[in-house]
Amino acid sequence: MLYEKHVPDEEYTRVGYRDLKSFVKEVFLRLGVPEEDAEITADNLVAADLRGIESHGVSRLKRYVDGIKNGVVKTRPNVKVLKESPSTALVDGDFGLGQPIAYKAMRIAMEKAKNNCIGAVGVRNSNHYGIAGYYAMMALPDMIGISLTNSRPLAAHTHAVGRSIGTNPIAIAVPCKQEPHFVLDMATSTAPIGKIEVASRKGVKIPEGWAIDEEGNITVDPDYVLKRGALVPLGGLGEEMGGHKGYGLSVAVDVLSGVLTGAAWGPFVGATEGPAPANVGHFFIAINIDCFIPVDEFRERMELLKMTLKNWKVHPKAERIWIPGEKSWLTERTRKEIGVPLHRRTIEMLRKIGEELGIRFPI
Ligand code: NDP
Repeated sequence: MLYEKHVPDEEYTRVGYRDLKSFVKEVFLRLGVPEEDAEITADNLVAADLRGIESHGVSRLKRYVDGIKNGVVKTRPNVKVLKESPSTALVDGDFGLGQPIAYKAMRIAMEKAKNNCIGAVGVRNSNHYGIAGYYAMMALPDMIGISLTNSRPLAAHTHAVGRSIGTNPIAIAVPCKQEPHFVLDMATSTAPIGKIEVASRKGVKIPEGWAIDEEGNITVDPDYVLKRGALVPLGGLGEEMGGHKGYGLSVAVDVLSGVLTGAAWGPFVGATEGPAPANVGHFFIAINIDCFIPVDEFRERMELLKMTLKNWKVHPKAERIWIPGEKSWLTERTRKEIGVPLHRRTIEMLRKIGEELGIRFPI
């Protein structure tokens, strides 16, 4: 079955995902990033587009390129473990690209979980790592993976105005007997800033309730939000629809990713493109299922849970019930077959980066 979360309009052109990944990887290689790190970063960005998460895919490439050119993102960081126990580690990312640092940290968490049932790894001195789900899904199909990060301040906490907290995502990946696995991957703001960027690129308004202006009034203008607005915590403005719970979740992510690791937190997290090093913090957990119940039995139980929820009575205004991760999984399968849609303005940006570095863009 062909399915895409967002069906592209005539402003989009498709490109094969392998060609797109080779292009992005080449960009990082030309900038001096080592082969393995360039591969991981390109794979993470293209994975976002494959999974229908346009907000965090290759449209973000310029930001990483600018960070490297501005000297705030190191291409060859000295990533090292600062402190370690059988089940924990604290990693110093030395201000490298967030993706390879996060990949290595999650690998450490999984290795510890393999030997000691659980692995928890904190990271300091990192940068934006793309989609949180990428690292949580590394644990599949034998373990449960959890991935958290803080981000530069883009949201206002409940009853406050101005950018004070990050969009701090939470991702939890859990294996089922059959794909799609359960993959919850979400910002703790009602929408991540990337969705505002997508609306700005398309020249459309954002839904009421995603963001506020400097006085705290709701705004639907994406360009204003990008310059001076603030996002609203998951659940919305104020307490009525549970916005305070999104605020609390965001801070909880910041406690683990920022406060516990020695990274920056809240309003003090920087942007990957500079002007100062971002000092983003991440937190990863891998859980060895066999330490609780046999992994086969667990996957069967998850399958039953998944199918029970999916086969529940459908709301009269809905077409079907979804499981977290299912739309992304279907979109990925579809786009691997028919190509990744890129917006006209994203293509222009990628082509320009390519021209500057002497790399031909594949379309
Ligand atoms: P979405 O709101 O698009 O989706 C959130 C989750 O809900 C996904 O797991 C999604 O599954 C699931 N979902 C969607 N519809 C349904 C449904 N009807 N029933 C059940 N589950 C459903 O995500 P966000 O916009 O909040 O976040 C987008 C991305 O941005 C994430 O990958 C996140 O990690 C990333 N991000 C990164 C940040 C950073 O600083 N690095 C900051 C903030 C966000 P599915 O995937 O299948 O659609």
